[in-house]
Amino acid sequence: MKIVFATNNAHKLEEVKSILGEQIEVVSLKDIGCHDDIPETGTTLEANAMEKAEYIYNKYNINVFADDTGLEVDALGGAPGVHTARYAGPGHDTRANVDKLLMELGENNNRRARFRTVVALILVGPSGPETWTLDGTVEGFITRERRGKDGFGYDPVFEPEGYGKTFAELGVDVKNKISHRAKAVGKLAALLKTKV
Ligand code: IMP
Repeated sequence: MKIVFATNNAHKLEEVKSILGEQIEVVSLKDIGCHDDIPETGTTLEANAMEKAEYIYNKYNINVFADDTGLEVDALGGAPGVHTARYAGPGHDTRANVDKLLMELGENNNRRARFRTVVALILVGPSGPETWTLDGTVEGFITRERRGKDGFGYDPVFEPEGYGKTFAELGVDVKNKISHRAKAVGKLAALLKTKV
């Protein structure tokens, strides 16, 4: 089966390809020649993921999935949540986002947080589109400073519970077994395997 992953993030694409395996041919937006700025206007991860998947389905009539991820920090009342990508402003600047997170938490000892990913899937069905939403969560803590070189985004400051290292220290192989996205994409893989 061929399916579009509605992302331009090369890190995510590699993570997801390695989880889905070779039975499923995952292509990116670039691969299908889509350079549009896909709208993300929802107030929940579910709505944003579905909005992105619907945009591609409606334009290309093709199997597609899209993801949306939020980092929920307890001491910040669940922020940045749905605003995780643009926490420090509209520029999606990772360095500024992480700086802001560390600043907002300051010396607070409650560092409990979780990543949550929602995947929205649309398959071309015999009588129209078939849709699903799947999710995955990983519990952990925000560190007091950046540690590690791997991964992307907030990886250097997120320590999954029980590991004592950040995602950026653990590396992609470990991250891909335990992460929010791995769990959501694992559910996606199980579902897609019933369809090929
Ligand atoms: P998106 O919705 O997947 O584009 O991600 C929203 C925000 O969360 C962006 O700022 C990403 O950098 C960040 N993010 C998403 N997934 C991860 C991850 O696996 N590790 C660290 N940061 C992530």
